[in-house]
Amino acid sequence: MLVNNCSDKFCRVCLSSNISELISFGEQPDSSHLLVAKSSKFYAHDLSLKYCKDCGFVFIRDYVCPDMLYNEYKWVTSVYPASHVSDLCQELIKEFSDSEDFILDIGSNDGYILKLFQDKGFNNVLGIEPAVDCYNKALANKVPTINNYFSFGLSNELKIKYGIPKLIICRHVLEHISELEDFLRGLDYLMDSSTLLVVEFPDFEAISEKGDISSIWEQHVNYFTEYTFSCILKRFNLSIIKKQSVPYGGGSIILYIRKNNNIKQNNNIIALADRPKIFTDNSIKNIEYISRFFENLKLSGNRIVAYGCGARGRCLINITEIFKYLDYVIDDDPLKAGSYMPGSLLPVFTPEKLYEDMPDYCFITPLNSKDTEMKIIKSHSKFIECGGKFIEMYPNSSKKLIEISNT
Ligand SMILES: [Zn+2]
Repeated sequence: MLVNNCSDKFCRVCLSSNISELISFGEQPDSSHLLVAKSSKFYAHDLSLKYCKDCGFVFIRDYVCPDMLYNEYKWVTSVYPASHVSDLCQELIKEFSDSEDFILDIGSNDGYILKLFQDKGFNNVLGIEPAVDCYNKALANKVPTINNYFSFGLSNELKIKYGIPKLIICRHVLEHISELEDFLRGLDYLMDSSTLLVVEFPDFEAISEKGDISSIWEQHVNYFTEYTFSCILKRFNLSIIKKQSVPYGGGSIILYIRKNNNIKQNNNIIALADRPKIFTDNSIKNIEYISRFFENLKLSGNRIVAYGCGARGRCLINITEIFKYLDYVIDDDPLKAGSYMPGSLLPVFTPEKLYEDMPDYCFITPLNSKDTEMKIIKSHSKFIECGGKFIEMYPNSSKKLIEISNT
């Protein structure tokens, strides 16, 4: 079964039955896979969000079977490491003096984070990674890793074989988890009062304020705020002891969590049950604005291409239908050249095409970090020198769309 209809009856966070529709983006292709040929079949589903009217938790209505999305992830952490991760690890390393402390990374990808710990002398590390391609890279990097999904069942096996972790890291995983209850049960089972759990996920508050539709695609089944995540933690007697906000992905939250019912919760976090509607209003405005922006450029006789065919870009291009104004897409990964974008069927080329063709505008599709954007612009300064213009978009920009040119 490719699509599961999430339980419409109860909120996965607070268990309320007060659930309502938030927004529908209509029939959208699975943005996780590029097409090998223009005629290749692609899977499409209704991309809709719902929300809990009691706690404000937002979630995807129909989610795609995880095996279809994560067997081969093709997104390797160490290729575009988030700039804050190194600082985060240095801070965590300071908390642990015993190099024998067991450190577990759930969704460990190619072992990038655990490698940072190994380099500092921590050898009792373990990664959990379901994607076979990332798992193989982790093994090649000599990072002990289990090729599986984290679950309550797996937590039982881990506890018997490896004991209780002193540190559990879980970065950008929770937004992907459809079986949230089972996942939290597993975390709870693995922790004792000495365990520090560090999680990071996209901040739906930031997504709402920007109306960032590039954050919505089938892999993200949960859209947490600090408040909604604290609601589910409370049910497992887990408490937030520290919070950090980072700009990664347009705005992410890092939470330090411990198992201790004596910890006083931060009373400054407030329930914003109607807050999700801000996302609806802002995203509808953005879709109109972006579509009109590209339409006007095209009507003025400009040729426009896009840079980057990641899931964020693929989804945004389809939702806004700006593929009508784009000639093709270029991407740094040579393995993607020759393929086609799902839905829009735009062809993908290597960056050399930019200079052979010299279009008027190159739209950099939304990326997780400003650093990556700046690297792209810097490496193609020749395009700007020759009269080309880049268009940059949120979530990294303060404005929706910015033109970058020599003039
Ligand atoms: Zn709820």
